[in-house]
Amino acid sequence: MNYQQLDPDKKDILIIDDKPDNLRVLSSLLARKGYNVRKALNWQMALTACQTVLPDLILLDIMMPEVDGYEVCRRFKSWDVTADIPVIFISALDDIFDKIKAFRLGGVDYITKPFEFEEVVVRVQNQLELRAARLEILKLNTELEQRVKYRTLELENTLEKLQGEIASRQQLQDKLLDIVLHDSLTGLPNRVLFIRQLGNALDLAKQDISYQFAVLYLDCDRFKVVNDSLGHIVGDELLIAIAHRLQLCLNSGDTLARLGGDEFGILIENLRDISSAIQVAELMLQQLSIPFKLSRYEVFMNASIGINWGNKDYEKAEYLLRDADTAMYRAKAQGKARYKLFDPAMYQEAIQLLEIENDLRRAVEREEFIIYYQPIISLHTGRISGFEALVRWLHPVRGLIAPTEFIPVAEETGLINAIDIWVLQSACHQLRIWQNHPATPKNLTISVNLSARLFTQPNLIAQIDKIIYETQVNPLNLELEITESVIMENTNVVKTIIEEIKNRKIKLVMDDFGTGYSSLSYIHSFPLHSLKIDKSFITQMQFHQDTMGLVPAIISIAESMGMTVIAEGVETKEQLAKLRSLNCDFAQGYLFSQPLEEQSVVNFIADAHQW
Ligand code: C2E
Ligand code: MG
Ligand code: MG
Repeated sequence: MNYQQLDPDKKDILIIDDKPDNLRVLSSLLARKGYNVRKALNWQMALTACQTVLPDLILLDIMMPEVDGYEVCRRFKSWDVTADIPVIFISALDDIFDKIKAFRLGGVDYITKPFEFEEVVVRVQNQLELRAARLEILKLNTELEQRVKYRTLELENTLEKLQGEIASRQQLQDKLLDIVLHDSLTGLPNRVLFIRQLGNALDLAKQDISYQFAVLYLDCDRFKVVNDSLGHIVGDELLIAIAHRLQLCLNSGDTLARLGGDEFGILIENLRDISSAIQVAELMLQQLSIPFKLSRYEVFMNASIGINWGNKDYEKAEYLLRDADTAMYRAKAQGKARYKLFDPAMYQEAIQLLEIENDLRRAVEREEFIIYYQPIISLHTGRISGFEALVRWLHPVRGLIAPTEFIPVAEETGLINAIDIWVLQSACHQLRIWQNHPATPKNLTISVNLSARLFTQPNLIAQIDKIIYETQVNPLNLELEITESVIMENTNVVKTIIEEIKNRKIKLVMDDFGTGYSSLSYIHSFPLHSLKIDKSFITQMQFHQDTMGLVPAIISIAESMGMTVIAEGVETKEQLAKLRSLNCDFAQGYLFSQPLEEQSVVNFIADAHQW
């Protein structure tokens, strides 16, 4: 073993041979070829050499005393750090050399003595190159593995990030979907989600005949009044409270939805028969009839409910809901605060109503209306004091249609605005024409009925001004008849309009007095000029000969409030006499005249009747 300094750039070869001569020859040969060469005479020295520095190649003599070459090779191969160092065996020609055993033990080549120098160098070189190549491959491999590991890690990170992003997007999407399908105020399912669930129920009913369900359509009565008079914040608070109460009437499997505004939809599932759905509706009505104690107000709120039995023959969920809605409308029409079961006849009527609605739309465009005029008589002079304009619809197929038939539809659809403004315009225009007639009394008035709906429109005053300007009618001769519902909806808009009408000196008449819910004391706070006692009271007079019903009381209170009184529907001389005796100011009715066509009015005036 020599301890020369090892050159790290040179390949290191360890020669193990018990014969120093061999060692010398071989080592000088290889040293000349530029290798680091170390020498070991036996196993012990070889081991020490390897423990110091690992060689790149081992040349190993087979025949050695104590531990022979085979055993040395075996030991190196079984030791981790030396296992992959190539071992070339050296054998003498006359040795009994077992090549198979040598290769089996891990030898990679062999050299026979005496040496062919060239051969030794080539074989050594070959093995070193092979080993270098192997090591390079190994290095590349580990590098590659390292890179794969790194990339895999990177990919895993990216994947994790992506999954996180997908999850948060899903969450966002769920949230959006939730917003889209729910009502933000009450948190209840909205119409879209309700229709979906109704659709599911319908599908289920089609598959399973034992599954039964019902749908309820609930609409609050006069919710608008609360909203308009107490404001939207109170309205919202009330809606939340209503939703809460309705929920209490339901089982966990049922669905309550807000369909919009003050309308709710209820889906009741797994029913045995319709009576359970009716029970739910009754419970709801009862729950709602308890006053709502809101943060600042106590509010009463009734509702109308339409019930539709979940018939599997329905094609679409929307139709189920539509029919529940139709039944709800019927409940409203019959006086509100009640429920109504849908029956197919309602659908037919609804269709008819729809037809009227469509026709009416056309009628407004084509002005298919005419006005009849009914005289109003002053009971003090016995002579005509004015006319009430009463509209009729001249239907192209059905002929003359009474206002009682189409005004409600017109009010519902909003067409009433156009109709009433048209009547007002035409009647004022007509008054101007009559005023040109010499027989016409000086202060002949014209009374026009205005629907309560017009009083929700702030531009009503502008329209009235325009008509007065265009027709040059004297506002003192104009009377506007309103119903109690106008003042019952005591909103700021209504108040302003009424005030503006008064400012223009146009007279306001309370029509059909006594049929609504207003009391005389309530009416007192509005600048009304006259009260028109509804004809039902006039008819009643004769059944209560002595007391004459409520008429005397109404007249005397109205007078004490500074209002004039008009009696409506006077048909008999007895009625006229009684009204006179009660000091009633004006009267109107078939006794004097039916409503007249426009052409007959001038003659009627010219006849100068006196009663
Ligand atoms: P109203 O304003 O109370 O008009 C009085 C109604 O009683 C008229 O019915 C009139 O023809 C009828 N009538 C008059 N005298 C008698 C009588 O002695 N006996 C009986 N039984 N009835 C009598 P009409 O013309 O069918 O009008 C019905 C209702 O339609 C009106 O009641 C009014 O509320 C509404 N209306 C009429 N024209 C208009 C209009 O231009 N606009 C609006 N918004 N409503 C109108
Ligand atoms: Mg009237
Ligand atoms: Mg009336």
